Amino acid sequence: MNIAILPGDGIGPEIMAEAVRVLEVLDLPYRSETALVGGAAYAAHGHPLPDATLKLAQSADAVLFGAVGDWKYDTLERSLRPEQAILGLRRHLQLFANFRPAICHPQLTHASSLKPELVAGLDILIVRELTGDIYFGQPRGRRLSPDGAFAGQPEAFDTMRYSRPEIERIAHVAFQAARKRSQRLTSVDKANVLETFQFWRDVVTEVHAEYPDVALDHLYVDNAAMQLVKAPKAFDVIVTGNMFGDILSDEAAMLTGSIGMLPSASLNADNRGLYEPSHGSAPDIAGKNIANPLATILSLAMMLRFSLNQPEAALRIEAAVTRVLESGLRTADIWSEGTQRVGTREMGAAIVAAVKAA
Ligand code: NAD
Repeated sequence: MNIAILPGDGIGPEIMAEAVRVLEVLDLPYRSETALVGGAAYAAHGHPLPDATLKLAQSADAVLFGAVGDWKYDTLERSLRPEQAILGLRRHLQLFANFRPAICHPQLTHASSLKPELVAGLDILIVRELTGDIYFGQPRGRRLSPDGAFAGQPEAFDTMRYSRPEIERIAHVAFQAARKRSQRLTSVDKANVLETFQFWRDVVTEVHAEYPDVALDHLYVDNAAMQLVKAPKAFDVIVTGNMFGDILSDEAAMLTGSIGMLPSASLNADNRGLYEPSHGSAPDIAGKNIANPLATILSLAMMLRFSLNQPEAALRIEAAVTRVLESGLRTADIWSEGTQRVGTREMGAAIVAAVKAA
């Protein structure tokens, strides 16, 4: 097992250090190599995704990624901003399927903005298409003036587009995921207004013929956004396009209390993938030993399950997280009266101890 470790910026290195400590105690045969990415790579090499980092990621069976970005890079031209590293990795590794589970741990129901009875036991999976849609349509809205500014321009535009194979492959991935869970899939679109999403609905319906054991329903994205806060447990697996998935997965994340708890996986057709917490680099809390490392540690578990075929090791990690939460330890983002507040390193150490004890 060859693992590329890309800690990135902000809290990235802190949370990654804890995930690596967990990986080390699992007693698995693996090799890992660490490289710079994002703002850290730009500062050292002038590019957020240097060739050496990309080659390392391409040669690995899986990439464990922290987070990238810092406000100090906001004035850089777009192609050099830290976030471009993620887009570059997705493109080069052909990561088209993004899995974002939103699980509300029973110990954390109070941390949700919804009533506990609405979120207790919540366990949904959002499957987001990652390589098409309005984020990649051509031509993009352009900054036409030489200095790159919009000054005086009458309009800007982006184009929404999906090809049949792009929809088919994400639909297959989602039906297969639904098959392993409760055999229910909700496809979210905007078929009433957008041609692209009428096409999406038609193609998903065609692919459904190969999965008669899975119940499929279609929902408009505005209704889906509403239902997610009204009755989130009514969902099981949701499949949707790149932009709607971007928005709905953040909405679902917040239902669970803290974005610091949520892992994600982005996979290609060979099940190789990039695993990262759903949150960003949180520059506001970087270097203070207060970031929650659990989303990254749970991303490691997803990596072991999906790309490295080590489901038992994944379960060990997930069980350790549950036990540590049961014991009352909490980082600041999930802390509540009556629980014990700990820092990033202490939370990591507690997970390591729980994994060892299992
Ligand atoms: P963010 O997710 O970094 O932070 C949002 C809020 O959540 C902040 O208050 C932060 O302190 C908190 N938070 C995030 N992760 C946490 C954790 N593990 N534990 C405790 N609290 C946590 O989003 P943002 O502030 O909008 O963006 C900050 C930077 O991150 C920007 O440069 C942005 O572009 C970048 N970003 C990167 C990724 C990525 O690397 N995949 C994703 C989103 C944003």
